[in-house]
Amino acid sequence: MNDHAVKPAPAPATGAAHHGASAPAQETDGFQLVIDALKLNGIDTIYGLPGIPITDLARRMQKNGMRVISFRHEQNAGYAASIAGFLTQKPGICLTVSAPGFLNGLTALAHATTNCFPMILISGSSEREVVDLQQGDYEEMDQLAIAKPVAKAAFRVLHAEDIGVGVARAIRAAVSGRPGGVYLDLPAKLFPQAMDAAAGAASLIKVVDAAPKQIPAHDAVKRAVDLLRSAKKPLIILGKGAAYAQADADIRALVERTGIPYLPMSMAKGLLPDTHEQCASAARSFVLPEADVVMLVGARLNWLLSQGKGKTWGGATAKSWGRQRFVQVDISPQEADSNVRIEAPLVGDIGSCVAAMLKEIGPDFAKPPSDWTGAIAERKAKNVAKMAETLAKNPSPMSFQSALGVVRDIVKANPDAMLVNEGANALDFTRSIVDMMKPRRRIDVGTWGIMGIGMGYCVAAAVVTGQQVIAVEGDSAFGFSGMETETICRYGLPVCIVILNNNGVYRGDEKNAGGGADPSPLVFVKDARYEKMMEAFGGVGVHVKTPDELRRAMEEAIRSRRPTLINAVIDEGGGTESGRITRLNPTAKKK
Ligand code: ADP
Repeated sequence: MNDHAVKPAPAPATGAAHHGASAPAQETDGFQLVIDALKLNGIDTIYGLPGIPITDLARRMQKNGMRVISFRHEQNAGYAASIAGFLTQKPGICLTVSAPGFLNGLTALAHATTNCFPMILISGSSEREVVDLQQGDYEEMDQLAIAKPVAKAAFRVLHAEDIGVGVARAIRAAVSGRPGGVYLDLPAKLFPQAMDAAAGAASLIKVVDAAPKQIPAHDAVKRAVDLLRSAKKPLIILGKGAAYAQADADIRALVERTGIPYLPMSMAKGLLPDTHEQCASAARSFVLPEADVVMLVGARLNWLLSQGKGKTWGGATAKSWGRQRFVQVDISPQEADSNVRIEAPLVGDIGSCVAAMLKEIGPDFAKPPSDWTGAIAERKAKNVAKMAETLAKNPSPMSFQSALGVVRDIVKANPDAMLVNEGANALDFTRSIVDMMKPRRRIDVGTWGIMGIGMGYCVAAAVVTGQQVIAVEGDSAFGFSGMETETICRYGLPVCIVILNNNGVYRGDEKNAGGGADPSPLVFVKDARYEKMMEAFGGVGVHVKTPDELRRAMEEAIRSRRPTLINAVIDEGGGTESGRITRLNPTAKKK
C-alpha cells in the first residue's frame, strides 16, 4: 500500500494504546480507498470538475500521483472521459459533484453508452436518508435512479469496505462485452468513513481479465466465410467497433487477403489508410446499393447507414430481403436483425472473430470479380478528380472546400496527429475531404451526430496520446465547449483549433423571418473574433482569410505545439442546412 494511504488511528479514549507493545493500528478512509481501488486497476487519469463533496477527492487523487484534469463544465469532462475510453480500452473516468454537476455529466454518460465507449461517471451525492425522504438536502437528487436508463450499469456504494467491489463492478461493466457508460454513485458520507487500513487494502479488487475475449463458434465463422465466398459483389463496412478493438493488423490482413472493397465509417477511417486501393469511400453511393454481400465489422445498421434500407441501398425494403445478404461481426448477440435480416451473424470480439475468419479463409481466397472492383475503381477515379478540381479552386472568401484542402495536406504530413471534428457542414466536408492514414486518429460526433464533443475530445486526445491535436470545428459546434480553451491553455496542450467560421448555424446569412429587429435564431455575431478567446488565456490566436494564411498558421501551431485557435473566415452563404442530413430535417431550406 502507498504511504499516503494510511494514517495512524486516533488514540483510543481509554488510553489502551499505551499498554500494548504493538504499533498503533493504521486507518484509511473512503477517499483513499476510492483512489487506491482506481490505481490498483491501472486508472491514473481523471477528468472532472471539483466541488462539494468531491473536492478533497480530487486534491488527494493529485497528491497520490493521479493526473487530474479539471474542466470548466462537467459535460466536457465527460466527453473527454468517454473518448479516453475509446482510445485506451480502459474506462475513462469523469468525476463530478452532486445533482447539477451529475446532470451535466450525464449527457456524456449517455453518449458513451450510445457509442459503446467504456466510461465511468463518478458523482458525489447527498445523504440517502434525506434524499429518500425528500427532506431537501443540499443538491438533493436520486442520482442512481436518474442515471440508470442511460447507463449500461449503475452502482452505489454506502460503506467504505464495499468501495473495492463497487469500483471493480463498474470497471467490468464498462469494458466487458459491448462497452458502455457506467454510473458510480458515492454519497458524501462515504468519503470520511474510516476503517482499518489493512482490512481496507484487503477489500480492494484488482480486476482480472476485465474484457474477456469472446471466441466465435466455428460454425458461425464458416457460415460467414461461405457467404463471402458466394459473393459476386462483396463489400466490407468497418465501424468504430473495429477501430476500438485494436486488431488493426488482422483487420488489414482480412481486407487485403480477400481483396474485398471496404467502406470505413467515420471513426474507422485510417484503420487502413484512406488512400488504400480497396477503399471505396469515394464510390459510397455506388457500392451500397450494388453490393450483393455486405459484411459489417463493428458497425451498426443504424441511421448512419440508412438502417440498411431505402434509397441508399437501392430502394431495399423488407420485401427485397435476400437481394443483399449480410454478415455482421459484433460482440453483441442482440445486434443482428436489428434492421434487416442478418444471414451470418458472427458474435465475438472483433480480434477473435477476424483471426478466426483469417484461419478459415486460408491463403487462397478467390478475389472478387474484376468487373465489380473495376466498376468501383472507375467511380472512384471520377469522384476523386471532381474533388481535386473543387479543392484547387481559390474563392474569396474561402469555401469549406478550399480551407479543408489545406487541412487535408497538413493532416497528410502529420499522420500521427489526432483529428477532432464536429459541426454540420464542417463535419461532412472534413470527413470526405481529409484522408486519415492511421487507426484511431479521427474522433468525431459519433452515433448521435452531436455537437459539443469538441474541446473535451481535444483535451483527452492530447492527454492520452501526447500527439498534436487538430480540431476542425464549425463555429456553432465550437460554441458548446469553447470555454475549455482555458483548460487547453492551463495544461499547455498541443491543440490547434480551426474554426470554419461562416457566422452561423449552417450558414450566416439568414434574416429574421418575421422582419423584426432580433437576428435570426440561426446566426451569430458577424465576424466574431474567436481567436481572441485563446489569446485571453495565453494561447495563440490567428485570424485567417486565405488558404495560404491558414496553412502558415497551422504549420506554426504544429511546430510550436502551443495552444492555437485559428479563426478561418468562410463564405457565410457557404453551408447547407443540416449538412448532409437535410433529409432528416423536413422543413430544411434547400440552398
Ligand atoms: P459506427 O458508428 O462506426 O458504424 P457503431 O457504433 O454503430 O459504429 O457500431 C459499433 C459496434 O461495434 C457496436 O455494435 C458494438 O457492439 C461493436 N463493438 C464494440 N467493440 C467491439 C469489440 N471489441 N468486438 C466486437 N464488436 C465490438
